[in-house]
Amino acid sequence: DNEITKNFIENIIDEDNEKNTYGKRIHTRFPPEPNGYLHIGHAKSICLNFGIAKKYGGITNLRFDDTNPSKEDVEYVNSIKEDVQWLGFTWDDRMFYASDYFDTLYNYAVKLIKLGKAYVDDLSGDEIREYRGTFSTPGKESPYRSRSVEENLKLFAEMKEGKYGDGEKVLRAKIDMASPNLNMRDPVLYRIVHAHHHRTGDKWCIYPMYDFAHPVSDAIERITHSICTLEFEDHRPLYNWVLEEWDDPEGQKPRQIEFARLNVTNMITSKRKLRTLVEKGIVSGWDDPRMPTISGIRRRGYTPEAIRDFCERIGVAKADSMVDISLLEYCIREDLKLKAPRLMTVIDPLKVVITNYPDGQTETITAENNQENEAMGTRQITFSKTIYIEKNDFMEEPVKKFFRLAPGKEVRLKYSYIIKCEDVVKDEAGNIVELHCTYDPESKSGSGANAGRKVKGTLHWVNAEDAVDVETRVYDYLFKTDESDDAEGDKKDFLSQINPNSLETFASKGEAALASYHAGDKFQFLRQGYFVIDKDSTPERLVVNRIVGLRDTWAK
Ligand code: ATP
Ligand code: MG
Ligand code: MG
Repeated sequence: DNEITKNFIENIIDEDNEKNTYGKRIHTRFPPEPNGYLHIGHAKSICLNFGIAKKYGGITNLRFDDTNPSKEDVEYVNSIKEDVQWLGFTWDDRMFYASDYFDTLYNYAVKLIKLGKAYVDDLSGDEIREYRGTFSTPGKESPYRSRSVEENLKLFAEMKEGKYGDGEKVLRAKIDMASPNLNMRDPVLYRIVHAHHHRTGDKWCIYPMYDFAHPVSDAIERITHSICTLEFEDHRPLYNWVLEEWDDPEGQKPRQIEFARLNVTNMITSKRKLRTLVEKGIVSGWDDPRMPTISGIRRRGYTPEAIRDFCERIGVAKADSMVDISLLEYCIREDLKLKAPRLMTVIDPLKVVITNYPDGQTETITAENNQENEAMGTRQITFSKTIYIEKNDFMEEPVKKFFRLAPGKEVRLKYSYIIKCEDVVKDEAGNIVELHCTYDPESKSGSGANAGRKVKGTLHWVNAEDAVDVETRVYDYLFKTDESDDAEGDKKDFLSQINPNSLETFASKGEAALASYHAGDKFQFLRQGYFVIDKDSTPERLVVNRIVGLRDTWAK
């Protein structure tokens, strides 16, 4: 790759290689906390960490940042592994847990105490916050800050042994209560949490804080470039401070690099908010096809190729920005365009009887599987006296420029004949229940017999005889506005922004061929968009999700 296409992280890596900072090793990590399912933002981080290592012949660790036992669970560990693999990345034997390092972290904390760089504090959480001060006011030192090394060692050991309750004591770094960077005003390194950990059980009742566990975990694993999101920029001095006393066999220390988190319009990228949607039953689960989770996106019918392409196209930025969801939609259309079979399915069916077509006759028609990819071959479809068309392809009183079916008007049926609407049949309530049409036996597609006929509309249709029942789920955005992004903090009540009409289901009629496909198979339904067979399908009833419509509004 030439220089021009390199992003700023690659420039940093090139620099490090030039200076031989890491003996030309490139070792990254993806460090999720197993407290929820991964979302589109994490996909960006996965593609970046694994992608950049791959590009430089380096390696990437999958590390579970499991230092917060009350919120974590193996369910999340398993879903995260599945999602990373689905995106196309492997970690081989490089899967770790921060909890693997609890002993090492403890011993390192003891070392910092011995060096006079950490102390046990009895202030409460509220008091610590109050003493910390603000951007404009200096911090105040804790009265416990001057405890002797011996006392600190004894108290820290007692914290570990369970002598104190949650919040009674913490271990703090002794840095600088006057630092302009609030993160450097004696941050907490360890806290007491009497909670069962999903891996270490009840062995520990003290747990390291992220700002302590993360740099040490990176150093233990000999990570070279520790890539994280922008909100950790202010934590970088602390990251470096924590590692000052770390002994690396080659004197190498990981380098933290921040990039802008991914925000996508109409998508929430906060695990906490996503959990709220699940817990309140607003969606059917973490993998609801409307969810921006990787599992939801997968179930919606997105492919790993499309997600990787999306992450590639948005690039790596140093300033926060909002990516339009239409780019994501463009990527899946691009990926499926040439590889998804194109079938006919009538989403919202209207019965059409072709009155002059012979009773009991069925004819077979050859249809292309993908008009833009001849290599996908052809299939046989059937035609008979009764078919279905879309309800909205008929208007009893057509508006101007409506070139589809209307009383007395003609349309072509894709791959088949021209039909003319002769009669509209209604029920007692006045609803249209079926149309009576006639067909022109000379007009069959490909016969060349009707070259001069002016028929503007071509409709998709299915043969009623062998059509399969399909439940079609058509989705709209869960959030119509962009205010739903994961801006730090919660200025708005995001639940009030929910689109109440984000799912519409239809009893549809699908082409017979559909019955031979399986959950996860993807299609273009002619004129309707891209669809995937959902896992809710049963042998009696197929369920399909609309991935995305056909209309491509993304400006290239
Ligand atoms: P959330 O705020 O949704 O809980 P998190 O950042 O706490 O997310 P982690 O499990 O800690 O979730 O994230 C793992 C990695 O993914 C981190 O390195 C984090 O920086 C990165 N990441 C999380 N969200 C995004 C995002 N929107 N864009 C890019 N990277 C992200
Ligand atoms: Mg986190
Ligand atoms: Mg977060």
